[in-house]
Amino acid sequence: MSADSDTEALLDALERIDERLHDEQDYLTELDSRIGDADHGNNLARGISVVTEKRDELAEQPIDAAVKTVGTTLVSEVGGAAGPLYGGSVLSASQELEGGLDAESAVAFAEAYREKLTDRGGARPGDKTMVDAVTPAVHTFQRAVEEDDLPPVDALAKAVDAARRGVEYTVPLRASKGRASYLGLRGVGHRDPGATSTLFVLEELLATAEDRLGEASVDDASAADAAVHGDAGDGGDA
Ligand code: ADP
Ligand code: MG
Repeated sequence: MSADSDTEALLDALERIDERLHDEQDYLTELDSRIGDADHGNNLARGISVVTEKRDELAEQPIDAAVKTVGTTLVSEVGGAAGPLYGGSVLSASQELEGGLDAESAVAFAEAYREKLTDRGGARPGDKTMVDAVTPAVHTFQRAVEEDDLPPVDALAKAVDAARRGVEYTVPLRASKGRASYLGLRGVGHRDPGATSTLFVLEELLATAEDRLGEASVDDASAADAAVHGDAGDGGDA
């Protein structure tokens, strides 16, 4: 059976995310070595590899079931705090996609993801965690779709920009959740690894959406492209 078009979009996104997380594996691990235990890049790279190995199984599932499989796989395969946080939030939010993927269900998914992440991890904005990227991204996406009526790709481009600012906002913070909090002031001056990996995932979701839905005007698309390929991954926080 061939995948329906929503699941096809997911498979495209997963392929891009897999490549990106492997490209950034050392960088994410280096960030985690500054504020944690130097395993974030390796944790995520291993998890996404197991997910993409399930490609054939995912292709046979409708989008909500496929996303749920991604979540359960991340929960069981990714160690550390990030696996259960990423995976559990994906798993829980997958039910919002029961009726398929469109602007409205994407907003519902994003909001459910944010809610599960904060319920489960207990972190709030300013605690120097992935929540600092997720919260502004989700709020921006929601506003752009629901209030500003922007096409989903443009809304996602704005969300990515918000996540990027969120990552930069983590640099001067002192962590108060997770392993990084044990290090106290030593983490100050470095980006949070989980916020950074969240930005990378969002950038790849945007690139997938641009490829598949490329209805954004040429100007919008090139502006978003410049933003995606900006300075996010260059390790410039050292
Ligand atoms: P571990 O900290 O167990 O080694 P990872 O290194 O894979 O796990 O992930 C670290 C990232 O997890 C941090 O950079 C942070 O973004 C995120 N994180 C840790 N604890 C929490 C929490 N309670 N809520 C949200 N995110 C968290
Ligand atoms: Mg770690």
